[in-house]
Amino acid sequence: MDIADWEKRYEEAVFNVKEHIGNVQGVFVAYNSNVDAMKHIRVDEIKKLVSIIGYKNLRERIIEYPREIKDPTDFMARLFIAMRDGKAAEVPTYTTDLHEWLMDNLVFDSARMGGQAGIMSNLLVNLGVKNVITYVPWLSREQAEYFIDSPHLKHPVIEDGKLILKHPKEAFDPEQKPKINWIIEFSKGMRFSCAGEDFEVPRDNRLIVSSRPNWLRIDMGNDMYEQLDEIREDIDGAILAGYQMIKEEYEDGTTYVDYVKKAVNVIERLKGCNPQMRIHVEFTSIQNKVIRKALLTEIVKKHVTSLGLDTVEVANALNVLGYEELAYSVINKGEDSVVSLYEGAVKLLKELELQRVHIHSLGYYICVVSKDHPLDANIQREALLFASALAATQATLGSVTNIDDISVGLGVPVYDQGYDDLLELEKYLVRRGICSSEDFEDGCISAEGHGLVIVPSKVVKDPVATVGIGDAISAGAFIALLARMPKINIC
Ligand code: ADP
Repeated sequence: MDIADWEKRYEEAVFNVKEHIGNVQGVFVAYNSNVDAMKHIRVDEIKKLVSIIGYKNLRERIIEYPREIKDPTDFMARLFIAMRDGKAAEVPTYTTDLHEWLMDNLVFDSARMGGQAGIMSNLLVNLGVKNVITYVPWLSREQAEYFIDSPHLKHPVIEDGKLILKHPKEAFDPEQKPKINWIIEFSKGMRFSCAGEDFEVPRDNRLIVSSRPNWLRIDMGNDMYEQLDEIREDIDGAILAGYQMIKEEYEDGTTYVDYVKKAVNVIERLKGCNPQMRIHVEFTSIQNKVIRKALLTEIVKKHVTSLGLDTVEVANALNVLGYEELAYSVINKGEDSVVSLYEGAVKLLKELELQRVHIHSLGYYICVVSKDHPLDANIQREALLFASALAATQATLGSVTNIDDISVGLGVPVYDQGYDDLLELEKYLVRRGICSSEDFEDGCISAEGHGLVIVPSKVVKDPVATVGIGDAISAGAFIALLARMPKINIC
């Protein structure tokens, strides 16, 4: 099948998903929302900040390579390293002191909704989903401002001992402090000398300072947890993200084991006696291997139906599950990396007892599906194509405010490099007798028993913004599938 045929499939898929999206009764989305403070930094501003902290301090700290940001010098050291290498970096900070220092000395250009759950909640409402029940354990007044105004967006609160749903702007805790991440963007070609080195920034990129104050918990009060089944009737599924916030140990003596247990309990509560309840977890990079492994083997395995992740995250997941060689082969960008990606997807599906693993990369999406998933390959493929058109829309416009915006993404051509990569995978699977060429294009049940659906994606040449595109892909595909799920009322 050539690219023109894929373009036709895209048109049909978007049309069909739009027709069905109204069938979705509702979605629960938790946990991580934050405010992203965006700053495009200039050379004169960097010079000013360096003069405040001092050259000598900075030079020493760059050599130490701080893994967390404890003070302004750590921040400047990591900014310098990111700019020198042109690499994106995300570094945690555990107090709000840096935020105050940056507000006094730099100030942001703009602020917007950040965090996977916050981004996905707003997106789903904009796509026309009726009941988006978002839950943020740290819902502050400032945070609430970044949720879009819509009667379809609600947050659970306990009033007079009863769970009720209100818009986040009416549900926030006035005592709660906001979680504000700083995203410092820098441009290719910026030149300056610092710490004895002259350099030019090789690439546009960003440093994210991720705020992790000690009150951050992936949690829910007992009274809310007890009454969570009240919302079960309003939703067909849940999207859960933010588990990377879990720490190994807390000051009060609790550990990650306590929070993993709570996380599983919430999932069980949402499912109740409805085994058809779809639970999607959006993975992300988690530095701490203990937490990464616990998320996969304790929360995802057995409890979750669907997992979304990018290629680097596939490698990270495989790594903690004991498949180091395969993990290496996924990221080494060799000829076989797309084949390894497919093999990795199958490993995750089986090992974690999932029904669906959706991998997005720049150029194609691979989805492997277990035998017992209730939807066929055609519908699975339409969901991926819809997600790709949605991603292209977001990359072009910066945000999606209405489902009809997707016509913009539909106009973006299928990425030919992604299409070529898929041909490699096709050759491999046909050679190994896993499927035929036709099966490969149409989606198929492999000889090994799992379903396989692969699409070339649309890629925007000069994206306005790239943050949150992965979230849009996973939420878009998940909602497209929910819209087609047979309705069974069991509870
Ligand atoms: P984030 O967490 O910021 O969303 P991810 O790594 O999870 O980042 O997802 C990024 C995904 O966005 C990529 O896998 C790719 O599929 C998609 N993407 C990135 N850039 C573009 C672009 N210019 N056009 C279309 N899709 C893009």
